[in-house]
Amino acid sequence: MASTKIQDKQTSAKRVAVVGAGVSGLAAAYKLRSHGLNVSVFEAEGRAGGKLRSVSREGLIWDEGANTMTESEIEVRNLFDELGIRDKQQVPIAQNKRYIVRNGVPVLIPTSPIALIMSNILSAKSKFQVILEPFLWKKSDASKVSDAYNQESVGRFFQRHFGQEVVDYLIDPFVAGTSAGDPQSLSMRHSFPEIWDLEQRFGSIIVGALKSKLSAKRENSGETKSSVKKNALRGSFSFQGGMQTLTDMLCKDLSKDELKLKSKILSLSYSHGEKSTLENWSLSHASDRDKRSQGSSFDAVIMTAPLCNVKEMKIMKGGKPFPLNFIPEVSYMPVSVIITTFKKENVKRPLEGFGVLVPSNEQQNGLKTLGTLFSSIMFPDRAPDNLYLYTTFVGGRRNKELAKASTDELKQIVTSDLRQLMGVEGEPTFLNHFYWSKAFPLYGRNYASVVEAIEKMERDLPGFFYAGNHKAGLSVGKAIASGCKAADLVISYLESSHQKDGSPSK
Ligand SMILES: Cc1cc2nc3c(=O)[nH]c(=O)nc-3n(C[C@H](O)[C@H](O)[C@H](O)COP(=O)(O)OP(=O)(O)OC[C@H]3O[C@@H](n4cnc5c(N)ncnc54)[C@H](O)[C@@H]3O)c2cc1C
Repeated sequence: MASTKIQDKQTSAKRVAVVGAGVSGLAAAYKLRSHGLNVSVFEAEGRAGGKLRSVSREGLIWDEGANTMTESEIEVRNLFDELGIRDKQQVPIAQNKRYIVRNGVPVLIPTSPIALIMSNILSAKSKFQVILEPFLWKKSDASKVSDAYNQESVGRFFQRHFGQEVVDYLIDPFVAGTSAGDPQSLSMRHSFPEIWDLEQRFGSIIVGALKSKLSAKRENSGETKSSVKKNALRGSFSFQGGMQTLTDMLCKDLSKDELKLKSKILSLSYSHGEKSTLENWSLSHASDRDKRSQGSSFDAVIMTAPLCNVKEMKIMKGGKPFPLNFIPEVSYMPVSVIITTFKKENVKRPLEGFGVLVPSNEQQNGLKTLGTLFSSIMFPDRAPDNLYLYTTFVGGRRNKELAKASTDELKQIVTSDLRQLMGVEGEPTFLNHFYWSKAFPLYGRNYASVVEAIEKMERDLPGFFYAGNHKAGLSVGKAIASGCKAADLVISYLESSHQKDGSPSK
């Protein structure tokens, strides 16, 4: 259905350049193309997908980047419906069973207040502090408009609401597992904007969460159930063949001219034409044999490359350099992803569920990994019946040096942690190591300055839009939403520019 719509509109003369073929860039390109615009996606690497990277080899399937995602964002749900990918979604078995290590032993994360009371994950004092948060939470010392308040760390915020033990045993492993960051360095406002907003509106997080849930329920029951809502999955999921199935589907219909691999953008130039506000962008990219190649002109640009890469680009505006020195340095977290398989008979205490996270404090019990996903337990087709396949993460803010360790050293570390946590015996029957030197941008306490720099670029460069995981969230869902929003902005920009020029819109 979508492709007929595309063909009908393919006559459009408007051209948009998308830089980066990660999930945000490909989602943007898909939307623009469905709207009938001509799209060229420039990707530095020889493959599309960016941080979505699935491998299928030796009867195994694994992910070296993102492993699962959610569809909380409306943009994701709409995209999935248009793309027709729902029959490929894979829901993990027993996904609500997630573990955190306490005193060297995996403990199930409680999913209800009763389970919390019964669990030994927190001391009695902290359990009370959680349940009585609506009465006990402390206000920040800083005034709500001050820099100190806006720069509050994730650790300090949750400490005010739930106490230090919750930070050490729930928040620390969670942020390490989802962003490779740590509670002290991460900005609350930028890492958890929804929870930050709950405090602004309700004070207590628990009261705010309950009230928001109730009003969402009321809204939903008032709405006629659209097919989008009916189809949407709750919780995390992947796809048959791994997460890259999503990006593969997004670029399936792109021709070689539309998806330019091994085409690293080196410079962009904006020149304001006398007659028209359009066709003002030209991009140069590295091509095969390291030659610089000048492409055709574009009406707008969606940039999804990480900011560290954008800073290396040369940008010209009206024949003069547009220096990017106002973009602050972003810190990136290095992570090694280790895939191992063990014969089932050699795993003495296998755990059913999603995975296990290791709090920083548990390093004192000899554990060095950030956490492990039980990949073949979640998705049985990822390994033959006689094997367990695990995906383990090492490094992050907690242990930057270890992320860079050799495969042999990482093999020892991962095997030792899995031995302690699940009783694996002997050596893994298979091992794969993938190193990300810049796995995640750190949403540090001064991240507001990064967001301001992105806004300045968009403001000062007409027809330039930024999307991707540096803008409004690290998750795959947020990256997709950001790409779709940028595509919508481009569409409105092109329409309004046409009206100004007085020419027909397509
Ligand atoms: C190990 C790991 C595990 C993760 N796990 C999860 C998870 O389970 N769930 C979840 O929701 N999220 C997870 N994430 C985060 C999520 O995968 C990413 O935030 C998201 O995929 C980022 O998409 P993006 O399009 O913004 O950026 P990217 O995927 O980084 O894409 C940017 C693209 O731009 C290209 N590029 C850079 N410079 C240039 C240039 N000069 N010219 C042209 N192209 C250029 C890059 O090569 C890249 O392909 C994980 C990330 C990692 C690294």
